[in-house]
Amino acid sequence: MLEEKSTYQNSLAYAKQADAEDPLAHFRERFNLPKDENGKNLIYLCGNSLGLQPKKARDYVEEELNNWAEIAVEGHFKAKVPWTEYHELLTKPMADIVGAKPSEVVIMNTLSTNLHLMMISFYRPTSKRYKILIESDAFPSDSYAVISQIKEKGYDPDEALILWKPRTEEHLCRFEDLEAIIEEHGNEIALVMIGNSNYYTGQKYPIKAITELGHKYGCKVGFDLAHGVGNIDADLHENGPDFAVWCTYKYLNSGPGAIGGCFVHERHANDRDIPRLTGWWGHKMDSRFNMRVDFDPIEGAEGWQLSNPPILSMAPIRASLELFAEAGFKNIRAKSKKITGYLEFLIKDLKDDRIAILTPENPEERGCQLSIQVKNADRSLHDGFMQAGIICDWREPDVIRVAPAPLYNSFEDVYEMTQRLKELLAKK
Ligand SMILES: *Cc1c(COP(=O)(O)O)cnc(C)c1O
Repeated sequence: MLEEKSTYQNSLAYAKQADAEDPLAHFRERFNLPKDENGKNLIYLCGNSLGLQPKKARDYVEEELNNWAEIAVEGHFKAKVPWTEYHELLTKPMADIVGAKPSEVVIMNTLSTNLHLMMISFYRPTSKRYKILIESDAFPSDSYAVISQIKEKGYDPDEALILWKPRTEEHLCRFEDLEAIIEEHGNEIALVMIGNSNYYTGQKYPIKAITELGHKYGCKVGFDLAHGVGNIDADLHENGPDFAVWCTYKYLNSGPGAIGGCFVHERHANDRDIPRLTGWWGHKMDSRFNMRVDFDPIEGAEGWQLSNPPILSMAPIRASLELFAEAGFKNIRAKSKKITGYLEFLIKDLKDDRIAILTPENPEERGCQLSIQVKNADRSLHDGFMQAGIICDWREPDVIRVAPAPLYNSFEDVYEMTQRLKELLAKK
């Protein structure tokens, strides 16, 4: 990576050359790029919030609308991909992306719902061990979910919630501070629940080290991969957390509010003593429709399913995962490091001391997103980007998040973005 960094150049010619040499460049054509009112492509750097639409998504949704129109209930068994088996198309490619065995992964519900289901199973507080550890800048929905679970179990969040915080004057969380917390409180912590990578700073936390640390003290460990899935390598099986949850509408490009994903480690696959909320779709397939037998869960993550899945929401995921499988996650990650490294190089080359990049410099400690803090900036900076045809995302009070998505963003996109940043800052 270092050699590559040193060859970066701040010029449109260099950006175009990098695109010409990019083995993933042709995937851009497989997406619909949003346009302005004159039909000109916008520069979209907001895949951390909502990924772009794969062109195939429409075909796959239409296929199921047609099945529904033409064969109705028979679609469950007679559609080209029978609806009862539709999820099987998704499980293997999704498991590959998060580094899990297919039996450890299920596509269901949405993220916050899955987080609650996982906490019902893996947050089992006792009078001695009832605390939950999260990072201080956790995504609000995660904090709400965790706090409501603590309350629901009869504990006081003021006492039961432990925050892993950056030190004063710092933005990133240090692993040694997490170690210190767990060494001191490990025996009181029931669950360590970390968002990876952090939605605000883009910091990627070490899944393996955090999991080992938590497990050493008898805590359960879960990760929220909302900003990680399709962006960083998670190796969930090897790294060994008890569970993970994610959404598919950010880097996985599966459409607004698309159905989410959930990982339950193999070690829990056959444990019938784990309490869980249950529904008929978690029941073994072969006797599911007998309707009268006692609940007999499917082994593995599918045993946590509640309802029959929304096929129309799964169809775009199918389109997206095909692209990921075709490109290969290793290649995606390699481009991600290179393009984000280029963005970082260009921003530093502005040599503007009003700008600070909050995201870690080490490519192993981040995904594709850079969080750029601009001193004394306000929302007008973001509005300026929008007017210049650049879609990125603003976080109060003064941070722009820019996320070049390796499947559809180009080096030229990144170059144009930093040119606009330079112009906007010159006006301030
Ligand atoms: C995007 C995001 C969510 C959103 O949750 P939904 O249930 O899908 O609305 C939750 N947590 C994190 C960390 C996120 O980044």
